[in-house]
Amino acid sequence: MDKINILEQSREALLSDMQQCCIIDKPYRLDQILQSIYKNCVLSFDDMTNLSISMRESLSDRYNILGVREEQCWTSSDGTIKFLFELCKDRQFVESVYLKDKNNRVTFCVSSQVGCRMGCTFCKTGRMGLIRNLTAGEIISEVMFLWNVMKHDESVTDKFFNIVFMGMGEPLDNIDNLCAAIDKITNQQYIGMSQTRITISTCGLVDKIESVLIKFPQINFALSLNSSRQEQRLTVMPAAKLHSISEMKKILDGLAVKYKTRFTLEYVMIAGFNICYEDAAALKCWTPKHYLINLIPLNHSDEHQKRPNEHQITKFADMLQSFGLKVTRRYRRGADIQADCGQLFLERAESMRNNDTQV
Ligand code: SAH
Ligand code: SF4
Repeated sequence: MDKINILEQSREALLSDMQQCCIIDKPYRLDQILQSIYKNCVLSFDDMTNLSISMRESLSDRYNILGVREEQCWTSSDGTIKFLFELCKDRQFVESVYLKDKNNRVTFCVSSQVGCRMGCTFCKTGRMGLIRNLTAGEIISEVMFLWNVMKHDESVTDKFFNIVFMGMGEPLDNIDNLCAAIDKITNQQYIGMSQTRITISTCGLVDKIESVLIKFPQINFALSLNSSRQEQRLTVMPAAKLHSISEMKKILDGLAVKYKTRFTLEYVMIAGFNICYEDAAALKCWTPKHYLINLIPLNHSDEHQKRPNEHQITKFADMLQSFGLKVTRRYRRGADIQADCGQLFLERAESMRNNDTQV
């Protein structure tokens, strides 16, 4: 029988299962187990030394804690670590990234889907198409695994971390599992981290944002805008046909008033495409004053799309600033291990699968 992933289950479901299987004698035992996992990030039953050996064995026979298994990891010269995870359920793969800034503050870049069906032309994940949604337990597993990495990272003194849903997939295209995962991540009964430390990035499924904000009003959102000219945006982001640029603005403005949400705009800069004066002027017209614009120079160049050079990047940033917009530039992290934005792509998993079938 397949083991039950503990992270997938509610406390109530676990209590009834564990009592039925005579694994625990008293309900408080379950609270000890959940406390070890969610509060102290203990990821092996063997390490729960407050339980008897026979109880630990029964738990290991019936349950697993993580729904993912590390297949491989790559460490960048800047300290970024990219993990390739195998999903225990069906041997699919996803990637997650452990990022540290210059002050050793840690951010986990987490995947929400295997692949993505949104098809943005500049993004490697988009080339895979959608293979499947991650379950809530698998999303929490990525977080717990990376938290465990942080626990063993001696350079980190802060016990808090940030989570950005900017890994593989479109988070709002898997909204039920995403919200179930965020519920456990933020609920005091489980991990209990602050909503303000979580950011969801979307390519523009803006009609779904409110259903997240109803549950988690303090969560941050980033919109991958990449162009504020509808026709131009459509040429690189098929999802642009779901909501026009003006429709998106109306929805975000409404949410900003109702929930006091501050949106960040992500703008992937592509040479000769979206970084001329007209693009800056259109962006200025579209953007409310208090929004932050995060410029992300394209992370690779190919025959169709080129990364702008330093001069072009600075010129565009200066134009936006001269219009009074607030601009930051996202510096590349983990470029030498293909861990930066839009580079998460399962070449390795693909080749392993091909090798498997050749044998
Ligand atoms: N699907 C979500 C989140 C994952 S993509 C979204 O699209 O927002 C995370 C970020 O990486 C997005 O802002 C996206 O625009 C950016 N990105 C994708 N491909 C990129 C590339 N080749 N270079 C730079 N940024 C890229
Ligand atoms: Fe999907 Fe985001 Fe990549 Fe677009 S940029 S294909 S939405 S992961």
